[in-house]
Amino acid sequence: LVLWSGFLILSGWAGSLSENLKNELRTSHLLRTELVKDKEHLKVLNDRLVTVNQKLEEKVEKRTQELEQSNEELKKLSWTDPLTQLLNRRSCEERFKSEIARFERTQEPFCIILGDLDHFKSINDSYGHNAGDYVLVEVANILKENSRKTDMVFRWGGEEFLFLLTGTEMKGGIITGEKIRKKIEENVFEHNQQTLPVTMSLGISVYKEGQGMEDCVKNADENLYSAKKTGRNRLHPQPDSLNI
Ligand code: GH3
Ligand code: MG
Ligand code: MG
Repeated sequence: LVLWSGFLILSGWAGSLSENLKNELRTSHLLRTELVKDKEHLKVLNDRLVTVNQKLEEKVEKRTQELEQSNEELKKLSWTDPLTQLLNRRSCEERFKSEIARFERTQEPFCIILGDLDHFKSINDSYGHNAGDYVLVEVANILKENSRKTDMVFRWGGEEFLFLLTGTEMKGGIITGEKIRKKIEENVFEHNQQTLPVTMSLGISVYKEGQGMEDCVKNADENLYSAKKTGRNRLHPQPDSLNI
C-alpha cells in the first residue's frame, strides 16, 4: 500500500511537472514568435529611418547650395554698381589695397585713370534722366570692351569712372586713356531718335611708393581738373607730352 501510494504521488508529481514544462515551452514559443515579429518590425522602422535620413541629408545639401548661391549673389551685389554692372567704389578701394600690397612686394608699377563725362548734367537736363542712364551704361560697355584682362574698371561716382591699370606706367596710361577718349568721342550715342553729345575728360596718375589710395586719386583728380580747364574731351597729361 505504501509502495502504491508512493507511486501515485510520484506519477502525480511527474504529471504536473510535464504540464508545467509544456506550459513553459508554449510560453517560450510565443515569446520567440513575438521576438521575430518585433525584429521584423524594427527592421522596417530602421529602413524607414534610413530613407528619411537620406532625404533629410539631400534637403540639407540642397539648402546649403542655395544658401551658398544667394551668398555669392549678395556678395556680387555689394561689389557691383546696379546700373552699369561695373565694380563699384567699395570694390575699388579693396582692389587698390591689394595693388599697393603687390607694389610693395614686387615694385611693379601701376597707374590709374580717372574719367569724368563732360557736361553730363546738361545731357540729363536736355534729354532726360533716362537718356543720362543710357549714356552711363553705354560708356561702361565701351570701357569694358576696351580694357585688357588685367585692367580693372570701376564706377567711381555718378558720371566718374576709374581705371586701374596693372603693370603700367605713364606711357601705357596715356595710350590707354587716349584710346578710351577717342572711342567715346567716336561712338554714336542715340536715344529716342536723338543723338547725344558725349565726351569724356581724363586724368592719369602713376602710383608712387608710400602713397595711399587717396593721394593717388587726388593726383589723378588734379590732372582731370586740368583736362576740364583746358577744354574738356581731353587727357592730362596730354599724349604729345611724351611724343606719343
Ligand atoms: P563737367 O563737364 O564739369 O564734369 O560737368 P558735369 O555736368 O558733367 O558735372 P556735374 O558734376 O555738374 O554734373 C554731374 C551730373 O551727373 C549731375 C548728376 O545729376 C548726374 N548723375 C550722377 N549720377 C547719375 C546717374 O546715375 N544717372 C543719371 N542720369 N545722372 C547722374
Ligand atoms: Mg563729376
Ligand atoms: Mg562731369
